[in-house]
Amino acid sequence: MYQAPRGTSDILPPEQRYWSYIKQTAAAICELYGYQRIDTPTFEDAHLFVRSIGEDTDIVEKEMYSFEDKGGDQITLRPEGTAPVCRAYVEHGMHNLPQPVRLYYMAAIFRYERPQAGRYREHHQFGVEALGDADPALDAEVIGIAWQLYVNLGLKRLALSLNSIGCSDCRPRYLESLKTYYTQHKDSLCPDCKRRLAKNTLRLLDCKNPACLAPTEQAPRSIDYLCPECADHFDQLKSYLNLLNLPFSLSHRLVRGLDYYTRTVFEIAPEGETGSQVAIGGGGRYDNLIEQLGGKPTPAVGFATGIERLVLNLKKQDVVVPALPPPTVFVAYLGKEARDEAMKLTSHLRKSRISAIASLSERSLKAQLKQANVSGARYAIIIGDDEVKSKTVVLRNMAKGEQQTVPIDKVAETFR
Ligand SMILES: [Zn+2]
Ligand SMILES: [Zn+2]
Repeated sequence: MYQAPRGTSDILPPEQRYWSYIKQTAAAICELYGYQRIDTPTFEDAHLFVRSIGEDTDIVEKEMYSFEDKGGDQITLRPEGTAPVCRAYVEHGMHNLPQPVRLYYMAAIFRYERPQAGRYREHHQFGVEALGDADPALDAEVIGIAWQLYVNLGLKRLALSLNSIGCSDCRPRYLESLKTYYTQHKDSLCPDCKRRLAKNTLRLLDCKNPACLAPTEQAPRSIDYLCPECADHFDQLKSYLNLLNLPFSLSHRLVRGLDYYTRTVFEIAPEGETGSQVAIGGGGRYDNLIEQLGGKPTPAVGFATGIERLVLNLKKQDVVVPALPPPTVFVAYLGKEARDEAMKLTSHLRKSRISAIASLSERSLKAQLKQANVSGARYAIIIGDDEVKSKTVVLRNMAKGEQQTVPIDKVAETFR
C-alpha cells in the first residue's frame, strides 16, 4: 500500500472549506489594500535560496529539497516565498513601475523538517511583499494586513510581537556585543547554540532549548544598538501602529530564521500558548535582499502565514467556517425511459448554470433519495413513468419535504 510521503498530507473534500475560506479571505484583504497576485515556479535555481536565506541558516544547512536535474542544473523546491518574488521583481524590471510594488502569493513551500503537529515537509503559505519603499508606514501597512487577515478569519486573543534588528551599519556592533555576551555563557548553552555562536549569533536569541532561555533573558538587546536612522524608523513604525490601533509588545528575542531581514521583524501568535508552534505568521523588512540578488538597492517589507497552521488554529478556536455550496439538485428516476429524460434534464440544468448530480444505475427510489440526502443537494427531482407520459417532474425540497409537480421544460426556469 502506498502512503503520502512523510510530512505531506492530502487535503480531503471535508477539509476544503477551511482552505477556500482562508484563501478567499486573504484575497479579499489583498484587494482592499491594493496588492496583486503573483505566482512563481515551484522550483528555482538553488543558489537563489543559498544567497538570500543565508548559508549558515537551518533552512539552507538542513532543510532544502535540492537536487541536480537531468540537465545538470542545481534545483531547489521553494523553501520560502520571498526570494522568488524578489527574483521576479528584478527579472521583470518591476523597479520601473510606480513604487512600492504590492504583491501577494499563495504557494506550496518545501522544507525537510521533523514532522509534527502543524509542521509539514510540504506546506502552504499566503504571503505579501511590498517592494520599493523604506517608509515605516509600509511596515505598518503590511502588519495591518496580517492583523486584519487573522481578525477577519475570526481568530481571537492575538498578540503582535515586534523588534528591530537594525541595518548593515548598526548590526555588526550589536552582533559583536552579543557574541561577547554568549561566549561568557558558553558552558550553559545547548550544543546547537555552541555551534551557532561562531557564525550565526543572532539565532541564539530564538533558541527554544530551555538551557538557552536563561542566558538569553539578560542578553544585549538589538534596539539598544540601533543607529539613529534605524531608531527613528522603529519609533515611527511604533507610532503608526498606535495610530492604527494595532496593539504590540516588544520582544528582544524575536529575530526570525532568515539572514535577509533588516530593521523591522514581527510575529503574530494566539495569546496564552507556549512552545515552537506559537506563531501563526510573521515577517519583516529586507532592505538589502534585492540588491544582493542583482537588482538595484530596493527596500522592501513582507509577511507570510502558514495555511495548515491557520486551519489548525481555526479548529482549535472553534471558528465556524462556511460550508462549500452543495449541488442544487439531485435527479432521481425510475425506469429506462425516465432515465433518458433524467440524463437530458441534468445536462440542460448544468448548461443553465444550475449544479446537478444525476443518479446512476437502477436503484430503488428510497436508495436514490438517501443518496440525494448525502450529497447535500437542496432539491431532488424525481422522474417516473407517469412523469415521462405527462412531461413533468416531481420537485422535492429536501429540507422541508415539500413536493410539487413542474413541467419538464420549466424546471430550469423554476430555479431561476
Ligand atoms: Zn541601522
Ligand atoms: Zn540553544
